Amino acid sequence: MFSRRMEGVKESATIKMAALARALRKEGEKVLDFSLGEPDFSTPPHICEAAKRAMDAGFTHYVPSAGIPELREEIAIKIREENRVDVSAENVIVTPGAKQAIFAAMMSILNEGDEVIMLEPAWVSFEAAIRMAGGKPIWLLRRDKPVNYDMMSSVVSEKTRMIVINSPNNPVGYVMGERELREIAEFASDHNVLVMSDEIYEKIIYEKKHVSIASLDAMSERTIIINGFSKTYAMTGWRVGYAVAPVEIVNTMLKIQQHSVTCASSISQYAALEALRSSQECVYEMVSEFKRRRDLIVRRLRDIGFACEMPDGAFYVFAGIPTLSTSSSTSSSSASSSASSSTSSSASSPNSQNEQKDDVAFAEMLLRDTHIVVTPGSAFGNAGRNYVRFSYAASIEEISEGMARIEKLISSH
Ligand code: PMP
Repeated sequence: MFSRRMEGVKESATIKMAALARALRKEGEKVLDFSLGEPDFSTPPHICEAAKRAMDAGFTHYVPSAGIPELREEIAIKIREENRVDVSAENVIVTPGAKQAIFAAMMSILNEGDEVIMLEPAWVSFEAAIRMAGGKPIWLLRRDKPVNYDMMSSVVSEKTRMIVINSPNNPVGYVMGERELREIAEFASDHNVLVMSDEIYEKIIYEKKHVSIASLDAMSERTIIINGFSKTYAMTGWRVGYAVAPVEIVNTMLKIQQHSVTCASSISQYAALEALRSSQECVYEMVSEFKRRRDLIVRRLRDIGFACEMPDGAFYVFAGIPTLSTSSSTSSSSASSSASSSTSSSASSPNSQNEQKDDVAFAEMLLRDTHIVVTPGSAFGNAGRNYVRFSYAASIEEISEGMARIEKLISSH
């Protein structure tokens, strides 16, 4: 009854957790949600004002499918100046969210059976987009150690069309350095492979510096940059994202856009234009608050016994599940050795023997016993099996209370 393509596409693994959380809330429990994939801040007022002005000025109709010319131009300027990639407005397509840019790019590039190298763990929608386009994800572990040329060569085939990278990374929080990006660039050139570089968290970065792979050597010829306004400007509901790519790719994506969604919202595009043109102070403020939260949550998680790297960017901690001395309330199945390469500085290894390691069971236990929602690591691929992802798009107070609840639970085991 349904297409073969959709058979391979999984429903979001977080749906069950969300339903459980809703049920608990209905019972009047105070549920703390650390699963959010969006900033908890409001969209800055000057951006909202620009949208109101656009409405009042009558910009409430279809706009050019590739985006309003002013916004495409402004994005091209941003990419040239900040990311050091030599592009013009015709290399830019504005889409209803970065997700749609990813989907349109996969649909434009992939033929049935084409392979796409995916670094695992990876944000969930890349795999879905690859599968919907008839492609096949080929997984390569990249959790806390950079990938290199040889590792990528070990999974390449004559069907490989693309490699997807995402730095700063969701869910792990790593930021790829120039050395790793150069290995990927060299590999992509040698094997004639395209790179999809999802840079949506580029501004939510702490000590390190963001480098776009498209700025290296001749990489702009084979890179599709994905970016958007959802995270940087707390604009998830506005649905504005974009891709920057060689003109032929943009024009193919444009056909998909013309025949599916027509264009991104006219009003939202004027808001996005304001976001780029006006002061970036709001972004700095959000990032410094995220940093405070990151420092707190990582310190507390390590105290409690989770094994976690200090994230360099985005607003997630990918935390190795601590060893519990009893596992009565969780499943004891599926202990995996996938976490053994963790270089965490925490005292507790997520791969200690003989304990429960099922991330889904652990996340369910947290919800049931502490009313805390997290995302099971296996939602991001097998490499996440012994982990849970905490989003720190939550207030300092919520983080403090959440960690206290978890500490109490863990110490009672
Ligand atoms: N890429 C990554 C890595 C993300 O984490 C997300 C949001 N969770 C998106 C893209 C989607 O962003 P948008 O709201 O622009 O569709």
